Amino acid sequence: MHETGAQPFDLIIIGAGFAGVGLAHQARQAGFTNILILERSQRVGGTWRENTYPGAACDVPSHLYSFSFAPNPDWSRLFAPQPEILDYIERCATDFGLRPHIRFGAEVVRSEFEEAAGLWTVHTASGDALRTRFLVSGAGHALSKPALPAVKGLDSFRGRTMHSAQWDPTVDLRGKRVAVIGTGASAMQLVPKIAAQASHLFVLQRTPGWLIPRPDFATPEPVKRLFRRLPATQKLVRALLYTYMEAFAVAYVLEPRLGRLRERGCKRYLYRTISDPATRAKLTPAYRIGCKRLLISSDYLPTLNLPHVTLVAEALTELREGSIVTASGDEHQVDVVIFATGFESPEEKPPVEAIGLQGRSLHAHMTTSPAAYLGATLPGFPNYFLILGPNTGLGHSSMIYMMESQFRYIVDAMTKSRRDGWRFADLRPEVMERYQRWLGERLKRTVWNAGGCASWYLSKNGGNAISWPDFTFAFRFKTRRFDDENYTRR
Ligand code: NAP
Repeated sequence: MHETGAQPFDLIIIGAGFAGVGLAHQARQAGFTNILILERSQRVGGTWRENTYPGAACDVPSHLYSFSFAPNPDWSRLFAPQPEILDYIERCATDFGLRPHIRFGAEVVRSEFEEAAGLWTVHTASGDALRTRFLVSGAGHALSKPALPAVKGLDSFRGRTMHSAQWDPTVDLRGKRVAVIGTGASAMQLVPKIAAQASHLFVLQRTPGWLIPRPDFATPEPVKRLFRRLPATQKLVRALLYTYMEAFAVAYVLEPRLGRLRERGCKRYLYRTISDPATRAKLTPAYRIGCKRLLISSDYLPTLNLPHVTLVAEALTELREGSIVTASGDEHQVDVVIFATGFESPEEKPPVEAIGLQGRSLHAHMTTSPAAYLGATLPGFPNYFLILGPNTGLGHSSMIYMMESQFRYIVDAMTKSRRDGWRFADLRPEVMERYQRWLGERLKRTVWNAGGCASWYLSKNGGNAISWPDFTFAFRFKTRRFDDENYTRR
């Protein structure tokens, strides 16, 4: 076991999800072997280990939602289900030879930077103190702590409650009266599966979302064989998917009104699927497409047509012993309440505490004004990187693409440190300020800020620390090399 005083690590990564596994592999490929991943649970997988609710899947096609350096010719469907994605990360961890580098059951509680040594000391809950040259948080920032709505009587309900991200597979929903609260991306996947079991299902919708069908299909065996024999064909499919999806960014980051054509398509689909005009009206959003995350499902709207499913277009306001109460005061008797109510904002769930130069607290920074240069670095926190930190979120493409951009940036920093002999690099405050000004200007015209909706992308003060306000290839370009001239190096 490495303790303070032992040979420091080149790199410690917090979290063994897509971020930790991918970065560790890339760093090893660049010749850094003294690497450790600290994982608080007993398995790799991150988000895909946590979210096991029925129907969980990725709404980005799997050929794109996977590492470019580890293509999987065997994806069973265009949109692979959660167990298959989890299996993919597990396999990557094994095939990349990372297992000996992962310490499971190791929860990081705090880290601090020692200026004299130019090293981070990472403390775990079990009392280990590990030193490292580079420290990376791959622990997820935006979507890791489940949020419950602030309603009356959460504790008075006598039946079962569950959050979508804390699913208990032993709960039997057959023949039960169930309420699903929320109609975001998780609810889209969950509702059809629950409707197949419950005797009655209430779906509580506070705000409708724009919805397109999901063009999912099983991958034919000959296609899998083709991908295996000619890997270039799978690369081509990935490139085509990337280009197709990137085209949607035009309306998101340049001109929200360009989304109108797509809105019309959504309305046509709604018209074809829901015959009752009153229900259609409830399901029609009053903001620009993309402002809230676009919903992608082919079985959600048909489920609402089932006789035992009731769409209640009102917020939940209260839980009573055996019922839920909605904004108008209506009460519905239920046995089980499922919260598909999303996650705490990054301000409420900042990364694990890190103390940088002059005692600066990462917690304090992230809870007051979450921001990071290229979603990764901050002045006063030398050699510390976040993966998918502030303003890296997308509404149209794969987050794995964003991660891979950051992998390159971080590994290049490590390579330059080794090549040029500096021990640590601290981001210049003026670079951070310039970047934040640029972000602020760009965000103003994006659909997330100007699309006319309230979403979890916007913080209480109206700022947006979630969205990347440009094309993903622009992010790739900005992170193509570690710009050491923007850092003070010692
Ligand atoms: P979410 O998008 O934050 O949705 C939460 C839902 O709960 C919203 O519909 C919200 O309504 C509703 N809600 C909150 N309080 C309520 C109340 N008191 N009464 C009624 N409804 C209430 O959460 P999520 O669906 O878990 O998705 C979170 C993020 O996870 C997504 O944006 C997406 O990035 C990601 N995700 C991705 C996938 C994928 O396949 N890639 C799948 C699932 C999730 P309002 O709209 O009015 O706030």
